Order: sequence, then C-alpha cells, then structure tokens
Amino acid sequence: TPGGSSRSKEEKIFVTVRVRPLSKKELAVKDQVAWDCADSHTILYKAPPQDRAAPTSYTFDKVFGPTCQTDLVYADGAKDVAMSALTGINATIFAYGQTSSGKTFTMRGVTESAVSDIYGHIENTPEREFIIKISAMEIYNEIVKDLLRPESSPLRLLDDPEKGTIVEKLEEEIVKDRQHLRHLISICEEQRHVGETALNDTSSRSHQIIKLTVESKLREVTGCVKSFVASLNFVDLAGSERAAQTNAIGARLKEGCHINRSLLTLTTVIRKLSSEKRSGHIPYRDSKLTRILQLSLGGNARTAIICTMSPALTHVEQSRNTLFFATCAK
Ligand code: ADP
Ligand code: MG
Repeated sequence: TPGGSSRSKEEKIFVTVRVRPLSKKELAVKDQVAWDCADSHTILYKAPPQDRAAPTSYTFDKVFGPTCQTDLVYADGAKDVAMSALTGINATIFAYGQTSSGKTFTMRGVTESAVSDIYGHIENTPEREFIIKISAMEIYNEIVKDLLRPESSPLRLLDDPEKGTIVEKLEEEIVKDRQHLRHLISICEEQRHVGETALNDTSSRSHQIIKLTVESKLREVTGCVKSFVASLNFVDLAGSERAAQTNAIGARLKEGCHINRSLLTLTTVIRKLSSEKRSGHIPYRDSKLTRILQLSLGGNARTAIICTMSPALTHVEQSRNTLFFATCAK
C-alpha cells in the first residue's frame, strides 16, 4: 500500500482470546455468562448492551471458549510462534487480561507444552546440537528481580552496543534436559509465590518473564556453518486493570499508588507495532519491560498474545477493555 507498509502475515502479532469457565466464586453469587464464543474466531456479547455504542461482536485469529483445554490454546494460539525460536527467530508469548482471568493458568500450560515440543524437536533433529539456557525475572514497580537468584536483586538494565538492553548480573542457567528445565521453571514459580505472600497481591501488579535462549548448530561440520540463536519469552503480565486505572491518574497519584508504567508502555508499543503504518517513534525505552523485550518485539521476531477473560456479567467492563486491547493488537 502506498505510504505505509502494513505488516505481513508472519510479522503480524497473533492475537487470540480465551474465555475461562465461571469460577466457583462467580457461580456462588449466581453471576451470569455474558459472552458467547460463537465460532472459533468470534466472540459475542450476549446480554443486552447498556452501552449501545460499544461493539457486541469481536473477531480474532482464534477464540477459545470455556470448555477449551490449554493444549488446544497452545496448539492454535502459541505453538507456531514458539517454535520459530528453534530456527533463529525471537519469539514472545504474552498472557494479557484482568486479575483472575486465567493468565497464569494459561501461561503455565503453554510453557509446559512448548518445553515438551522443544525437546521433541531436539530428539528428532539429531544432526544439530542444541544449547538451551534459561533466565527468569519479575518486574514489580519497575524493579527487576531475578527469579532464579532472588538474593541478587534488584537488577540494573545496561545498554550494550551489540546486544541491546541487557539485564546486568541476571542468572542464566544452562539446561541439561527437559526434567531440569521443568525443575528450573518450578523454582521461578515458587519464587514468584514467595513474593506474593510477602507483599500483598504482587502477582496482579508484577510481570513475569521466563526467557529461554535456544541455540543450535550442525554437528560434525567445521568452518562457516549456519547456527541459530533466538530467545523464546513467556510473559505473564500484570493484571490489565492496572492499565485501565490510568484513566484515574490524578486520583491514583493522590493515593500514592503506582501507575504500572511497564504495562502502559507495552500496550502503546503493541498498538504502534500493529498499526497499519508503523510510523513514528515506538517508545520501547519508556519502561523496563519494553526495554528488556525490545529485540523480541520489533525486528526479527514473532509475537503471540493470549488475552484471557472471565465470562461473567459482573466483569463486562474489564472484559471489554481486554477485547479493546486485543483488537488494537491484531
Ligand atoms: P490470573 O493469573 O489472570 O490472575 P489465574 O490464572 O490465577 O488468573 O486464574 C484464576 C483462577 O481461575 C485459578 O484458580 C485458575 O486455576 C482458574 N482458571 C483460570 N483459567 C481457567 C480455565 N480455562 N479453566 C479452568 N480454570 C481456570
Ligand atoms: Mg496470575
């Protein structure tokens, strides 16, 4: 198209929506289901809309309804993007949604499936030698904590002329095999949990990144052979209500609360990356999360975003916000 270069299919951010079942809590108060997953691409607002101006039907690359298992969410929503890391393309998978909408539940399953597929691929590709490394961090109030070595926190970001932004002193472990990787991931989860009990409700305010580095080269070939290196990031974002709250900036500041700078900047970056023209400045440098992920978002990179939402009528406002974000991202 003249003027702007719209993104190609490969480049486009792959955006899916997952609606979880009603929770026990929602069932206990006889909350209603407000959304209908009409087909595998469409979600409809069922209840009569109070706000007639708001759309009632939304279309995405995939929509996963309440009975859909995480395996399928992975297979249809994340696998292609995740597997591109095996051939040297940086990949990032995000879970976005309000607190308790199913981000952690979904990312846990997606990460597990991806690990399983990576090792499946390694076993089926004996001609290549693979090196997998893992690092993991949490960003809370723009403070970066190492989830593999929490005692060394907080970590600083440095600008490297070749590698871009790096997290100084971030622990990176070489993974021995798939059991070892599962073990290291469970350590990160435990660590995040420790923070959660110490500081009330941190998981709704913090971002977790599990970063795998996948490197491979042909065996028994000397000289200049093609090797692949890429990162594969699994990102469990802070609750999206933290982004919506910025409408109340004045009130928040008075209360002394923090705006979630990383979440807000990420939504801006994603919106700009997805816009037809991709023109203008992309503000990666405005937050820690976007600085850390810059090379995995722009450039030689593929991105999948799984937006999670509650089906409940009482959460319609937040669900609409999530669908609005998802629409901007696609
Ligand atoms: P978040 O990380 O977005 O705050 P969680 O992943 O912790 O939300 O999910 C909240 C609760 O809902 C958890 O108890 C989780 O097990 C459950 N849950 C989330 N998604 C699903 C789903 N698709 N099917 C069944 N239970 C789910
Ligand atoms: Mg969570």
